[in-house]
Amino acid sequence: MTGPDSEFDLIRRYFAEPARTSPDVLLGIGDDAALLGVQAGQELVVTVDTLVEGTHYFPDHPPASLGHKALAANLSDLAAMGADPLGAVLSLTLPSVDHDWLAAFSRGFLALAEQASVPLVGGDTTRGPGAISVTVLGQVPAGQALRRAGARPGDRLVVSGALGGAAGGLAFEQQRREQGQPTDEQSPDCARLFWPNARLALGRGLRNRARAVIDISDGLLADLGHLCAASGCGARVDWSQVPVDPLLEGQPEEVVRDWALAGGEDYELLFALPPTEPLELLSLSVRTSLTVIGEFTSGSEIEVVDAEGARLDVARRGHDHFAG
Ligand code: ADP
Ligand code: MG
Repeated sequence: MTGPDSEFDLIRRYFAEPARTSPDVLLGIGDDAALLGVQAGQELVVTVDTLVEGTHYFPDHPPASLGHKALAANLSDLAAMGADPLGAVLSLTLPSVDHDWLAAFSRGFLALAEQASVPLVGGDTTRGPGAISVTVLGQVPAGQALRRAGARPGDRLVVSGALGGAAGGLAFEQQRREQGQPTDEQSPDCARLFWPNARLALGRGLRNRARAVIDISDGLLADLGHLCAASGCGARVDWSQVPVDPLLEGQPEEVVRDWALAGGEDYELLFALPPTEPLELLSLSVRTSLTVIGEFTSGSEIEVVDAEGARLDVARRGHDHFAG
């Protein structure tokens, strides 16, 4: 880009934050590349996530929320590895320069960056079909990263927080749209959808405790499928124990079950906890509600049962990459 809206002007105006003191950032935005110090005894953790306009977000998605979500999705991946964030890199492809959009987007992005102590250290800004790609770098003590592989039959299946809030929020938002109401990104029933939280403190607390961890981005059953496939085991989920977002109270049971088991974007952590590891202590130390929702089993099947142990037929299991 050239002219008054040149790449450099946009970067300076919206993304070059006031100098942030992070001992890990030796050189941030403005040079040919950023320079991060990785402490001795730590491993570098890298993750990237791309959102394409029209595919992953609508052109009229509230831009501040979009900035927040693009970063939150990556931070959730770091959390699921048990990593501490070092910095983020943002690649923005914009169909046109819309200053209001950019101001709100960068506000949403940088507010979460500040809150999660993950400085924006670089990026790329180009013109083209809308796309947002965020790379986050983190570190984890050598050998302590939390993987999807490692769950064993007999381990408890544990989930943080509550589920279904993002899918419910999307449904509430769609209802309002159909009634011709404008999007309200501050609407409490859409908080999970527009302002998801990454469980970084929990991820850190799971090091040396959980045997396998995944974050729930595709939906509980889909992501449990990934974890089980990597671990070479199956799982039984007790639906009566699944913590459901209080915002879904009063909705039909079938709908709530679908949102909680197959809805995506809740960004909670799902993990395998060995029988010897005390859950209450862990929950207190990470200040996060944790619920045992079932257990890992031998074999490869993932089944959902009710309070009496009877099998429940689940219509939708989340993304189509769920196998079995
Ligand atoms: P180069 O041409 O060497 O790749 P750029 O002109 O793309 O350099 O970027 C100049 C500086 O601005 C670099 O430090 C780059 O990381 C940073 N930068 C570019 N776009 C963004 C963005 N969207 N957010 C944060 N930093 C950015
Ligand atoms: Mg560049």
